Amino acid sequence: MRTVSGIQPTGNLHLGNYLGAIRNWARMQDAMGTGDESLFFLADLHAISEHQDPVAFARGIREMAAAIIACGIDPERAILFRQRHVTEHVQLQWLLNGTARVGWLNRMTQFKDKAGKNREGSSVALYTYPVLQAADVLLYNATHVPVGEDQKQHLELARDIATKFNTDTGVELFTLPEPIIPPGAARVMSLRDGSAKMSKSDPSDMSRINLIDDADTIAQKLRKARTDPEPLPDDPAALDGRPEAKNLVSIYAALADESVAQVLGRFAGQGFGAFKPALADLAVAKLGPIAARLRALQDDAAELDRLLAIGAERARAIAAPTLAKAYAALGL
Ligand code: ATP
Ligand code: MG
Repeated sequence: MRTVSGIQPTGNLHLGNYLGAIRNWARMQDAMGTGDESLFFLADLHAISEHQDPVAFARGIREMAAAIIACGIDPERAILFRQRHVTEHVQLQWLLNGTARVGWLNRMTQFKDKAGKNREGSSVALYTYPVLQAADVLLYNATHVPVGEDQKQHLELARDIATKFNTDTGVELFTLPEPIIPPGAARVMSLRDGSAKMSKSDPSDMSRINLIDDADTIAQKLRKARTDPEPLPDDPAALDGRPEAKNLVSIYAALADESVAQVLGRFAGQGFGAFKPALADLAVAKLGPIAARLRALQDDAAELDRLLAIGAERARAIAAPTLAKAYAALGL
């Protein structure tokens, strides 16, 4: 089993990224047996499909590496690297541009969503993004790719590209990757609006808990989180139609590794005046150690660069032979 996952190094990691993605990556890595491999990369090349301020971007890349390690990705066991350091990704993307069809890319909903009405003004990179994603996983012959609901279509495209490349060249080069939805992945909503997901790009910092936030900030954000005046019910189904309440209870459940029913079993009948401080204590207990590691690592640029350079070497050892075979398969 070989898994590949990427994350764009833009903005601060927040609780949604942690509970929805990175914590599960760490658990997946911990569950790996001998001979299995997990690769994690900072998708810095994907990030430039939209404009990035160069100074903030350069800083954000190291911060993201620090955050991932602080969340439990072990750069000794897993392979952690920057996409831009392994130039095989872009080389393979170009080869796969010869395989992918315009009609396939035209069906990608992420492009339609992100481009919105500004299709003509979107970058070409935003359009061909899914082909780079295909290269990201096919380069390593990944057997499994952890994906959220929003990325399933791109993985399907990677499989189509792999199949066509193998058929066109008559070389069984690429493994078809399977999607895996890591168990326990939670969808965390904004603290200000229970119908919007918690997001790095939300302009309001009060809408999210950043992994770097200190205990007071976490407590303050939760205290000010939007809620309703009703006490908590004992039946999880009664949270439907109460998105803000549901979100806070779900966050508690995810942090405590409990079910929503278990949490309600303890808090039913109580109002948010009691629940919010309990949630804040739990969040601080779980996130405090991560924030402490993150702060210590973030300031050690030399160590981060060292770890990322080692990761790039290890990634390249897998990627380079695949790329060489792809060139050969095409007669190049
Ligand atoms: P942006 O607003 O810039 O898109 P983001 O907060 O959505 O940023 P991404 O870098 O797009 O973060 O996503 C990183 C990972 O975190 C992905 O696997 C994504 O599915 C997951 N993720 C992002 N937001 C949430 C959330 N609110 N709940 C659960 N998982 C999330
Ligand atoms: Mg996103």
